[in-house]
Order: sequence, then structure tokens, then C-alpha cells
Amino acid sequence: MISHEIYQRFGLTDDVIEYAEKVLEDLIPRFSKIDERAERAQLKVIDAMQKARVDAACFAATNGYGYDDVGRDKLEQVYAHIFETEDALVRPQITCGTHALSLALHAVLRPGDELISPVGQPYETLKSVIGITPASNSLSEYGVTYKQIELKADFDFDYDAIRESVSDRTKMMTIQRSKGYQVRPSFSVEKIGELISFIKSIKPDIICMVDNCYGEFVDDLEPSQVGADLTVGSLIKNPGGGLAPMGGYIAGRKDLIDQCAYMLTSPGLGKEVGASLSVLPSFYQGLFMAPTVTASALKGAIFAASLYEDLGFSVLPDKTEDRHDIIQAVTLGSAERVIAFCRGIQAAAPVDAYVTPEPWVMPGYDCKVIMAAGAFVSGSSIELSADAPIREPYAVYFQGGLTWPHAKLGIIKSLQQLVDERLVKLP
Ligand SMILES: *Cc1c(COP(=O)(O)O)cnc(C)c1O
Repeated sequence: MISHEIYQRFGLTDDVIEYAEKVLEDLIPRFSKIDERAERAQLKVIDAMQKARVDAACFAATNGYGYDDVGRDKLEQVYAHIFETEDALVRPQITCGTHALSLALHAVLRPGDELISPVGQPYETLKSVIGITPASNSLSEYGVTYKQIELKADFDFDYDAIRESVSDRTKMMTIQRSKGYQVRPSFSVEKIGELISFIKSIKPDIICMVDNCYGEFVDDLEPSQVGADLTVGSLIKNPGGGLAPMGGYIAGRKDLIDQCAYMLTSPGLGKEVGASLSVLPSFYQGLFMAPTVTASALKGAIFAASLYEDLGFSVLPDKTEDRHDIIQAVTLGSAERVIAFCRGIQAAAPVDAYVTPEPWVMPGYDCKVIMAAGAFVSGSSIELSADAPIREPYAVYFQGGLTWPHAKLGIIKSLQQLVDERLVKLP
């Protein structure tokens, strides 16, 4: 146990620290399982870097067209090794997760094709990409139709409805692994594999894309290893390890990756262009750190679930469930509690700790939203962060933590804030 003296510098009181330490005692066996998984993932990353013969030349800055950018090309080989795919596109020119997903969809789909989401509604930002929310340059504007199959009441896939929805025009399915900000469980890679096998048994040439955001290195396998044709994510989440300052990746079948590259740069040019400037060292080192960073974030999520479940709050996933992403939802039941929680997280940050987060009206939301983040990389949600729409049921979504001690401090501080404001009583 760490001396209380150092925790007191953050305004933590003995009763809160002791309560938190007691919760932690029960988590030791789970944490050791997470460490074992991180070890396996770390070895996978090192093996991939060795196979691609990564060397100092990979870290050199390139400019202009970026022809013969060895570091960029080898990094894509490293991703392809890790995801066990034919190829990968890993670029700073992919601005975020939404862009990577939009790129993959626009690259593959043609007018008259149909896209299906067999797992209910996709992530908020994809609604404009697909055209569920009308937007210029959406897939819908290009004549791509879209269907969505809702999950069943028990959150299982509606296999019958999926089978019935498939037609000659069905070109692609988009499968979101993480629950994002919905009330449903995140899917295990195994379960995604079953869904993909089912889809391919109906029509083998349907291209299955998995939105892998927040899921990388959480399971032993990635969706690409259970049949996904394209696996897509953001580098300012898990695989960037907190060091990548931007970027996104797409790993998958070579012909599809070529199409994505043609869409990103230009037909004919594809993967051949795209200078990396000086960003590659952070991509490599971030990927190297990603397994243990993800493990830290997972420990934080499990600690938060245990702490708040024991205090009587409803948490998703609960404290004993297997994890398939790094997001933790805690339903606190009132606006005051949500705000106090977020202020606690903010007050534990290495950056911007003196700032007091306030709920504000955000574009795209129908209510005020509060966000807590003291991040080195703006908007990076692999760093310790929390956000919550100020509305029923007053749930806060908590994720990230580049190191376990920071995640731990943030969670204890959130509780301290609730206790100080008399919004929670310790048992
Ligand atoms: C974060 C996220 C995205 C979008 O990523 P951005 O980098 O925010 O654009 C898409 N899907 C899921 C499930 C996500 O968690």
C-alpha cells in the first residue's frame, strides 16, 4: 500500500483511501489475468516488429510525396503481422476513427450497393457518413442504401432477420465491436467470429468490416483473426498507446486495402505516396506500449466498476464480467453526481488539473454534455477521461489511463469528490 501522505496531496482522506484499497484487494487475481494477456500481446508486437526488420531508418522523417517511406511501409507490415492480415493502411493522413471507417466504406461501396449493420445502430458519427442523418457526401448521396438489423431483447444477434435482410445488392456489413455510448454489451471477438461465419454462409462475398475502436489488445484475438475482411480503428485510442498524436488504421484483405489507399490518396497512387513527416517514431513506440497501456485502462475500468457497484450504483459491464473494450459506464442517478465524478477525474490529471469541467451544449447532442480530460493528446480517449450527457439516467462513461497508478488515482479522486460534496456516503 502506498503511504497516505502522498495521496493526501491530492486531497484524499484516509476513509476514502482505505475504502478503495479494500475494493482493490479482491481484484488482484483479475489484474494478474490482464497482465498475462498484456504479456502475450506485447510478445506479439515485438515479434511483428522483428519480422518486419524494424530499424533506426524507420524513424527518419520524410517529406514531399513520401515515395519510398520505409518506416511507413514497414509499420504497415507490422500491423498486418499483428492483425494477421494480408495488408494494412496506417497513416497520419487518416485523421480519426470516423475517417478510417468512412474511408473503408466509401472505398468499397459503389452506387446501387447495400450496406447492412447487423448489430443495431452504429456509432453516432457514422450516421452522417452513411446518410442516416442527411449529410453532403454521405454514402446515401452516392446511391448506397443502408439497412439496420436491431439486436434482440437479450442483445443477441437476430440471425433470422439478418438472413432475410440479405439481397443481391448486399455488398458489405459493418459490425461495431464496442458498445460505444449505447446500452448493450460489447461483443467478444469470438462472438463477432460467429456472426461473420453466419453472414458468409448466407453469401460468401459479403465484405465484413469491424469497427474495432477501443477493442485492440483487450481480447487475445482481433476481429481480423476470426474472418473480418477489414478491421478499422483510431490511433488515439488503444493501438497508439497514448503516444501517437493522430492517425487511424485499416487492416485486411490486400485488394480492399488497395481500394482504401486509392480512396485516401488517389487512384493510381494508392499506398505509394503520403509523407510521414516526423510522426513515425511515436506510431512505433505507441504500438509497442499499447498492450500495457490497454491493460492499465482495463484495470481502471474494472476498479471503477467494483468501487461503484459496491456502493450500490448500476455499472456496465459489472465488476465480474469479461471485458471486450475499455469503456466503463456508471449510472450515478443525478446531474450533481455526474458533475462531481467528472471533476474528480479532471483533478487527478497531469495536464489541465486546475480546470473545472462544466456541462455545455455540444453540437450533435440534444442535451448538455460534461467532459473531463487532462490529456497530452487532445481528445485522446486512451488517456484517462470521462464524459456524460446531462440527462436520465445520468450515466457517466469512463475510459482510459495510460498508467494504472493514474487510473487508480483518478477513480479514487472521483469518489473523494462525491464524498466531499455529500453525494455519496461510504458504508
Ligand atoms: C471513437 C469511436 C469511433 C470514432 O472515432 P473518432 O476517432 O472519435 O472519430 C467509432 N466507433 C467507435 C465504437 C468508437 O469508440
